[in-house]
Amino acid sequence: MSANFEYDSDSYRRVLDGDRRGVNIYSRCGNPSEYAFDDQMALIANADACLATASGMAAIATLLFGMLKAGDHIVSDWTTYSSTHEFFDHRFTDFGVTTTFVDTSKLSEVAMAIRPNTKIIYFETITNPAMKVVDVEVLVALAHSRGIAVVCDNTFASPYIFRPHDWGVDFVVESATKWIGGHSDALGGTITMKTSLFPTDFIETIRWSTLTKLGGALSPFNAWLLLRGIQTLHVRMDQACKSAIVLARFLEGHPKVHRVWYPGLESHPQHTIAARQIPRFGAMLTFEIATENEAVKVLDSLELCTFGASLGGVRTTTQVPSTMAFLDVPHEDKARMNIRDGMCRVSVGIEDPQDIVSDFEEALSKI
Ligand SMILES: *Cc1c(COP(=O)(O)O)cnc(C)c1O
Repeated sequence: MSANFEYDSDSYRRVLDGDRRGVNIYSRCGNPSEYAFDDQMALIANADACLATASGMAAIATLLFGMLKAGDHIVSDWTTYSSTHEFFDHRFTDFGVTTTFVDTSKLSEVAMAIRPNTKIIYFETITNPAMKVVDVEVLVALAHSRGIAVVCDNTFASPYIFRPHDWGVDFVVESATKWIGGHSDALGGTITMKTSLFPTDFIETIRWSTLTKLGGALSPFNAWLLLRGIQTLHVRMDQACKSAIVLARFLEGHPKVHRVWYPGLESHPQHTIAARQIPRFGAMLTFEIATENEAVKVLDSLELCTFGASLGGVRTTTQVPSTMAFLDVPHEDKARMNIRDGMCRVSVGIEDPQDIVSDFEEALSKI
């Protein structure tokens, strides 16, 4: 828990010689707990290197500001985390970086959007709220045939159930706030790298060129909480994924539910791709009922599960995507992202699955 460290002659020399990784200088540049978390994350993500940040958005902003400059172009899926979408759609354009939004599950759309200055293809491995799953292998093949790096946000899956680097993805960002930490008590983010398109020390270059300048360093206390979270990631994810399919099947059979989006259901549009890529299917699902008002009423009536923001914790958490996460996204864009008013998103936790189902059964009886 220190911001500052005492030098010894060895660390003093190492810094002068340019070997700064692991030398404790000042915690915005790196911290022993942060280095330990980097190493653990690189291991479980099957990456060559990891750089931890203060939040998932800090990871995304740090990586992209580290990789891009004015005049560069991004091809991104329409459906990304709302702050990511807004960053690409507004803030990044102020710095001369433009984005073309496409459906990355349609390869011809991606190919047509690529320009000579395209540097990144960006997507999420499971999208919010329709839980779209993209065929990663074919997307990576297309990008690499043009010399373009692939960046993906793997937050909804977590490295335990899907490791994008194993499928050729160059850079992966995670909001460690979610499944990795797992207890909704610490913000954090990670950037991992496994690529032949950049030098092996590129992550460390970003640490010095960008993270230390933007300032989004991970606090040592949060690094410690996130390291503790990793120790139970597999147990929590196994339980949450098992309960998710139970809840998804219950909701699919419920008369008041119009539709359920869960990659593990045969009715999901990308079920076959998901079965190959993410055989545990994850613990995020969305169901649709008639109206937004009814959606709020159902979620507010839950006793065990929580109505609120965020996801990936040990407690089941629910929200109405159209008026919560995507509140600031214009209506036309919401339609392209497949966001509908009566949708309820569920991040399934580790409570007893029968208790979760009973809670939803009771809440749905209120409408
Ligand atoms: C929460 C989230 C983020 C942002 O992470 P923070 O830790 O809240 O900054 C990015 N992407 C996805 C998919 C998320 O769910």
